[in-house]
Amino acid sequence: MIISGYFHPPHSSEKYRAEILRLSEQRIQLEYDLGHQAYSDSDMCSSRCRANEHCRTVWRVDDLTLSPPLGRLPAKLDFPDGSQFIADESAQLQQAFRNPRGAWLHKLERHFPLIGVSFVALFLCGVLFFRYGMPWLTAGVVQVLPPQVAEIVGEQVLDTLDHHLLESSQLPLAQQAEIKLRFVKMVAQLPPLPVEPQLHFRRWQAGPNALALSDGSVIVFDSLVVLAQTPAQLDSILLHELGHIEHQHVMKSVVHSALLSASIAVVTGESTGLIDTFTGVGVFLASQGYSRDAEREADDYAAEYMLTLYGSTRPMIEMFALLAENIAASHHATKQDGELSDDGAPTWLSTHPALSERIERLQQRNELF
Ligand SMILES: [Zn+2]
Repeated sequence: MIISGYFHPPHSSEKYRAEILRLSEQRIQLEYDLGHQAYSDSDMCSSRCRANEHCRTVWRVDDLTLSPPLGRLPAKLDFPDGSQFIADESAQLQQAFRNPRGAWLHKLERHFPLIGVSFVALFLCGVLFFRYGMPWLTAGVVQVLPPQVAEIVGEQVLDTLDHHLLESSQLPLAQQAEIKLRFVKMVAQLPPLPVEPQLHFRRWQAGPNALALSDGSVIVFDSLVVLAQTPAQLDSILLHELGHIEHQHVMKSVVHSALLSASIAVVTGESTGLIDTFTGVGVFLASQGYSRDAEREADDYAAEYMLTLYGSTRPMIEMFALLAENIAASHHATKQDGELSDDGAPTWLSTHPALSERIERLQQRNELF
């Protein structure tokens, strides 16, 4: 079989009409016209080419590399010295130097429906990984992390908060001591938690709330203590925070963010997000991004132990109603500032499920009881 095409000498943009002839299973002959002395033969070359001579070289097939056509680029045969032969018809060259793997790849490259299906499959794999793989991996990493990590992260976050956002509590010390005592007694009646809980009082302008940190710290803001009308109402929120500690939501949130940053860093080569995640503010922001599922888990935990300790979730429902009223009132007061999200909650709270939805769930728990 004779294959016609063009011959490109090594490191040259020139090309010459050429022909390839298959001599045997293992040898081919390349024939071309050189306009000048440009090309020297290799060990396998059977003749030396001179200026204006018809040149003929013989090559061992094993020394040659067939590059299959890529998109619109033709198939080409690469010689060990860097020269190339490009056939007039790629198919002819491919047939003569059939490479089963290359042919298969070429077929795949031109199979557009298959390319589309591959993209969809890749996208679905990504979605499944982030939806199910990531939480599973996160829970696994949190399990194997030494407890010191949760302690260090918790201490660092409290330091950062104290430095930037929180002020000392202005509640009377006697009231703080009374709530602390009740908290300790309440914790003693609960199953053991992954870390020892500790209650802290702080003041923050952002509105009545409480926070749980990874080291077991529960931070209660003065405004929440003031808003609560009964000890049981305040305890319901403390139990909610203990629910976050029981399920290790803060560490899960931090590890999840770190894994997410690491995944993005692997894909994009951008690693600053990973560093941010491990700095104080990054950890705090990550831990505030509790998913709705985490809030529900913490609510369920609180509801379960409100039923055990108080025989009802009613105080928790009342507390949520008070919080909703407070949010509505502050929404009304700061409507002009644009600091609130659409549902009326402060923007940093907007990831929490709507209070009305949470109250409804608690009412269902009460009926079950
Ligand atoms: Zn919460």
